[in-house]
Amino acid sequence: MGPRTAAVGVDVDSLHHYYRIHGLDEAQASEAAWAVGVPRFIALFAELGIPATFYCVAEDLDRPGNADHLRACVAAGHEIGNHTWHHRYDLVRLDADTRRAEVAEGRARLEAAAGAPVVGFRSPGYTTSAGLQADVHASGHTYDSSVFPCAPYYLAKAGVMGLMRLRGRRSHSILGPPQVLAAPRGPYRASRADPHRRGDGLPQFPVSVAAGVPLIGTAFTALGAAASVASVAVGLRLQRHLTVEFHAADLLSLADDGLDPRLGVQPDLKVPVARKRAIFHAALGHLARHARVARLADLAAEAPSSAA
Ligand SMILES: [Zn+2]
Repeated sequence: MGPRTAAVGVDVDSLHHYYRIHGLDEAQASEAAWAVGVPRFIALFAELGIPATFYCVAEDLDRPGNADHLRACVAAGHEIGNHTWHHRYDLVRLDADTRRAEVAEGRARLEAAAGAPVVGFRSPGYTTSAGLQADVHASGHTYDSSVFPCAPYYLAKAGVMGLMRLRGRRSHSILGPPQVLAAPRGPYRASRADPHRRGDGLPQFPVSVAAGVPLIGTAFTALGAAASVASVAVGLRLQRHLTVEFHAADLLSLADDGLDPRLGVQPDLKVPVARKRAIFHAALGHLARHARVARLADLAAEAPSSAA
């Protein structure tokens, strides 16, 4: 058994997507996720000496300034991953041509802007399907990291969407199939017929869950530093590889960054940036001391078939 590995990712969802998911008018969305959140993550990773992957939405590059932040990620030694062209939460329900374009155009546009290879894919809302996997594979990606086998997250998402329906608001989010809860916890080659099962298809790096705790930024924020470090430690004891996930907005706050107060529907945006940064620093510091942290593109290239 070799040394443990870990990967750290940041989904760069612009605030527009938060307005959409909560059914708010996105006209007032700012570029703070790109302009403020991304540089804060680059600085945090530099302090810890860890390479990461930034999963980006290609349409965001059409707005001024964002492509410069994308290139800053590359210049700092990070990988750019494909988080699709338009971040359609209903990606798996789109017709095949539109779905394929979301995947292939997203990759092509990100690669052109980054000036670096884009080989990793993460689906909006962690929802995937056999058809989507086939598109991801055929469009030149070498790995996928869209499976999130987390019951608390799944149930919370179902609960929030039910609540919004009761209030007469429509979320653009969709709930994927519950098979995701039975997916392997560690990296695996996915079945071509069902990406949530093992097979001979594309390498899949699920977002990690340790003893029921999802290793994601909002969970760390809710837990605080000591419990976040403990959950990373438990994960490292139980699994050979951990995939830890953040969103660029995880290092933003309403008060610190003067954001639209309506975004307070995301409770973690009420937590000061300094507090969240200290929690993430503690959790990632523990990870970096006990595992080899590498970009997923590099881990996928190493030995995907032996990763189990
Ligand atoms: Zn996203």
